[in-house]
Amino acid sequence: MADRKTDRGYRRIATEEAWCSPELFGLFRKELAERTIDEPGFHSLYGFFVSEAPRAQALARRIQSLGEERIADMDASGIDMQILSLTAPGVQLFDPVEGSALAIRFNDELAEGVAKHPDRFAGLAAFSPLDPAAAAKELERGVTKLGLKGGILNGHVRGTYLDDQQYWDVFEAAEALDVPIYLHPNTLPKDMVQPFLKRGLDAAVYGFACDTGLHALRLLVSGLFDRFPKLQIILGHCGEALPYWLYRINYMHTHISRTGRYPDVQPLKRPARDYLRENFLYTNSGVADPDPIQYIHKVIGKDRLMYAMDYPWQFEPEEVAILDAMDLSPEDLAQFYEGNARRVFKL
Ligand code: CA
Repeated sequence: MADRKTDRGYRRIATEEAWCSPELFGLFRKELAERTIDEPGFHSLYGFFVSEAPRAQALARRIQSLGEERIADMDASGIDMQILSLTAPGVQLFDPVEGSALAIRFNDELAEGVAKHPDRFAGLAAFSPLDPAAAAKELERGVTKLGLKGGILNGHVRGTYLDDQQYWDVFEAAEALDVPIYLHPNTLPKDMVQPFLKRGLDAAVYGFACDTGLHALRLLVSGLFDRFPKLQIILGHCGEALPYWLYRINYMHTHISRTGRYPDVQPLKRPARDYLRENFLYTNSGVADPDPIQYIHKVIGKDRLMYAMDYPWQFEPEEVAILDAMDLSPEDLAQFYEGNARRVFKL
C-alpha cells in the first residue's frame, strides 16, 4: 500500500473522480434497453459499460461505490481525498424538469456518502442546466445546505451549450456563492458524433476534448465572464488542449470579433487569453504525463493547476509515481496535489 500520511510533504487530492448513483445506473440501463433518446454517442459508450465485459463490470461496480471498495482503491494508489462528481451525462440525459428532481436526490445521496468519510471525500452538486432557475437553486442548496464544494456541468445538454444567456442563472449563483463549476465532457451530440464514431474516436480518446474545448470556448467568447468576472470554470484533461492553443485562439478571436462577420461574436473586454488564465482552472485528469502538465504550469500559472486521476475510468494506481517525479519544486508539487484544491474547494 502506498503511504497516505503527510510524510511525503503533501496530501494527494484527486479532483475529477466519478460517482454514479445506483438509481442513475439503473436509469441508464433502462434507456439502453428502450432507446427513447436519440443520442448515439451515449448508446455507444454506455452500451459497453453495461455489458458483460470484465472491464465494464469492474467499472460499473467501482463507480457506484461510496464506501469500502473506493477507499481501498484510493489507499492502493496513494490518493488521500477524492472530489466526487456525478458521472456524465448525469441528469443531463433526461427531460430538464425530471433532471432537476433527479439532481436533488443524487445530491442528497452524495452528501450522505461524503458525511460518512469527510476526511476522504468531498463532492460537487449536480443540476439540470436547461431548467435554469431550478439549477441555480439546487447549486445554492448543494453548497449551503449539503456542504458540497461547487457544481458539476456534464457538458452539452442533448446538443445545447450553455453560452446562451437564458441558461446563466447557475453561473450567476456560482459566482455569488464563490464556488467553481467543473465543465466535464459528455458523449458527443448527435450532430457531431458520426465522423468520430466510425473509427472509435468519439469518447475519451479524442472526441471528449473536442466537444468540451468547444463548449469552454463558446462560454468564453459569449461574454459570460464579462458578465460574471469572478466566475471560475474548471477544465479537466489538461484543459482539453486549450492551453496549447492560447496564442492562436487569442490572435484569431481578436481579429474575428472586430470584423462583425458573425452577429453573435462581439469584442470582449479582455483578450481571449486573459480569460483562459483568469477564469479557468485546470486539472490533469486522465493525463499522467509530466510534459503537458508542466506546460500548463508555465503558460497558465502554478496556482491554477490541480491533480485528478479520473477514477474509476482511468484507475491506474502506478500513475501517481510518474507525477511525483515531475520536474517541479517540492512547494510546487504540494500546490499541484493539495494546496490549489484546498483553496479552490475551500477544504
Ligand atoms: Ca472524468
